[in-house]
Amino acid sequence: LEAAYQFMVRVRLPGGVATPEQWLTMDSLADAYGNGTIKLTTRQTFQLHGILKWNMKKSIQAMDEALMDSIAACGDVNRNVMSNVNPDQSAIHAEVHDWAKRVSEHLLPKTRAYHEIWLDEEKIVDGKEEEPIYGPHYLPRKFKIGLAVPPSNDVDVFSQDLGFIAIIKGGELLGFNVSIGGGMGMTHGNTNTYPQLGRVIGFCPADRITEVAEKVLTIQRDYGNRSDRKNARFKYTVDRLGPDWILQELNQRLGWSLEEAEPFTFDHNGDHYGWVKGEDGDWHHTLFIQNGRIKDSEDYRLKEGLRKIAEIHEGEFRLTPNQNVIISKVSEKNKADVEAIIEAYGMTDGRHNSALRRNSMACVALPTCGLAMAESERYLPSLIDKIEEILDETGLSEEEIVIRMSGCPNSCSRPALGEIGFIGKAPGKYNMYLGAGFAGDRLNKLYRENIGEEEILQELKPLFLHYAKERETKEKFGDFVIRKGYVKAVESGEGFHS
Ligand code: SF4
Repeated sequence: LEAAYQFMVRVRLPGGVATPEQWLTMDSLADAYGNGTIKLTTRQTFQLHGILKWNMKKSIQAMDEALMDSIAACGDVNRNVMSNVNPDQSAIHAEVHDWAKRVSEHLLPKTRAYHEIWLDEEKIVDGKEEEPIYGPHYLPRKFKIGLAVPPSNDVDVFSQDLGFIAIIKGGELLGFNVSIGGGMGMTHGNTNTYPQLGRVIGFCPADRITEVAEKVLTIQRDYGNRSDRKNARFKYTVDRLGPDWILQELNQRLGWSLEEAEPFTFDHNGDHYGWVKGEDGDWHHTLFIQNGRIKDSEDYRLKEGLRKIAEIHEGEFRLTPNQNVIISKVSEKNKADVEAIIEAYGMTDGRHNSALRRNSMACVALPTCGLAMAESERYLPSLIDKIEEILDETGLSEEEIVIRMSGCPNSCSRPALGEIGFIGKAPGKYNMYLGAGFAGDRLNKLYRENIGEEEILQELKPLFLHYAKERETKEKFGDFVIRKGYVKAVESGEGFHS
């Protein structure tokens, strides 16, 4: 008799684009083998939770039949490549998404182990497999890449080990600014670990993006810290050697030099909800999914509603970096049918969609994640209910404030980029951070340590009252708490703890 071990399966889905058929596959696999829910992740992909060991192979094989895989979705390799969801500019989305896919394919490990283990491919018996990019020892730690299209920083490009910022002129994609050395994770009590923002080191033409990605990754492969896993992410390599040194080394490995970075501006890192008409005439509807969890409950049959949409949808689904979904490429003729399902299932009802909630994001944490120190996904919605009461009292209920929570300092929901951030310390206890930039361009700072719900609400109330009274026109909450001296602006991750 074997213990009923259960697992999580994460799909590799570059840029978060899935077909309706792929959506239906994930929907049925969640019921057949998972816990009946689908999780949309902060890296724009699907996770299925609660898969029993003996159902793992069947799940992966069904995913394979729907042209999805789980290769490099975990491990010390390049992870799921993120890209801007951009419903407004169809041509730019297609182009940037295509580059995201190419980068993802280019950096895939070449080993056939996945196919041998899960897909019953014939085994390579002589053991002679080579990894031309990763080499025999792979990377010191995971590696994350994201492609942003300004003014949207939905991918939180500065949180990525390697970020590409699209430079568009006259409607044409010229290329990408290159940002290096971002990352969110840290360890409580270890000030040698910290969240860090990427730094822009130059510009590359679009058709050289895979080359740049490969060479940056190999610098981390060769110079990353392999003796201390807590200090092994690329951000620490960049901070130790300096961005200028990395640029020099990169230029040398490329055999040509990055150009001077182009100007760009980000103005938000969240999603804009509802219908948008793209430049090609198709419609796109961004739907809020609380913490990315798609499930059916007694009063909200979200999973069923999305299945009904997938059954009639002829476009695509775009999973956003904020764990939401865009029902994308809806033709004029199908729009009314999709809209009817959205309405019938109450998917845009106010009760699911206040301004604070729309800008909230929590990681999975308990009971699914073994690293969790505190609740996150299961707790943030009820905390928001209570914060909303304060916002109502202070007249701020329609104010867009980014709030993020993680159950541990690994920071999967990128809490260091929340204007209000919470990181779990122990059951019911969180560190509270304030002051991140609304566009994902500044880290937040520790404001209160190890506090529970009562103290959280007590701390937030006077802050909101003050903000309601003394904010300047269009001043964001994260900027206000810095201007008023509640926290100091964090210039660099190296000063995060000071
Ligand atoms: Fe788990 Fe920590 Fe990631 Fe949350 S942040 S999902 S608790 S590893």
